Amino acid sequence: MLPVERLQRIRELVQKKKNIKIADLSKEFGVSEMTIHRDLKPLVEEGLVVKTFGGISLAKSAQPKLDHLCTYCYRPIHEKLAYRLILRNNKIEFTCCAHCGLLRQRLLGEEVVHAICYDFFRQTTISAQLTSFVMDTTIDIGCCHPQVLTFEWKEHADKFVKGFGGAVYSFDEAFKVVFEKMKGKN
Ligand SMILES: [Zn+2]
Ligand SMILES: [Zn+2]
Repeated sequence: MLPVERLQRIRELVQKKKNIKIADLSKEFGVSEMTIHRDLKPLVEEGLVVKTFGGISLAKSAQPKLDHLCTYCYRPIHEKLAYRLILRNNKIEFTCCAHCGLLRQRLLGEEVVHAICYDFFRQTTISAQLTSFVMDTTIDIGCCHPQVLTFEWKEHADKFVKGFGGAVYSFDEAFKVVFEKMKGKN
């Protein structure tokens, strides 16, 4: 298993179980605890997990709370659509959906160290850089327009588009396109 796959599996596991022992992860993936510690570093840095004695826990701050408002449009946050921005000062901002996430990220520029969003199907977290973005689909997700949906796997995004219309974009493309579309509207 590639380190990047292991990292994604750990992401999923910690979100499901909330607490995991390093020893269990080491056993599960058949790698040393040292390797697991190395794997966990980005997850700690992005604020998804905190280290506990001999293990990790899902960080409380990594869970969008209902009283959070989108830092871009001030709508309430839908947990399933939220887009998380991890800033240089270790602060975490939430936006209501990827639409606002991308626009906010553009506004903050270099301040953003990392951005995280949810897979539309599986509700696992994905690094925004690796996400496939779907726009102009006919499904209404009930948040901001133009809508931006996020998928971990490009093939899921492609299938979704086949069924419900729209187009698939990489992070860099979506980052530009959503801004262009908003500009066009004003
Ligand atoms: Zn918003
Ligand atoms: Zn929104």
